[in-house]
Amino acid sequence: MLSKQFIQQIVRLEPSSTTHHECCHCGYSVEKDVDECPQCGSHEIAADDLESLLKWSR
Ligand SMILES: [Zn+2]
Repeated sequence: MLSKQFIQQIVRLEPSSTTHHECCHCGYSVEKDVDECPQCGSHEIAADDLESLLKWSR
């Protein structure tokens, strides 16, 4: 799972894009708007809202 520190880093670097996209199949982090995992070819891409993750981990 993502560490709180890593999430905070992303939120600070890209405050306008705080959604993390990750392959449901292998957990590979993908670019936003990518609908196929470059790692395993799965089309199951999950979008996690980093701000809600931060609130949850506080
Ligand atoms: Zn994958």
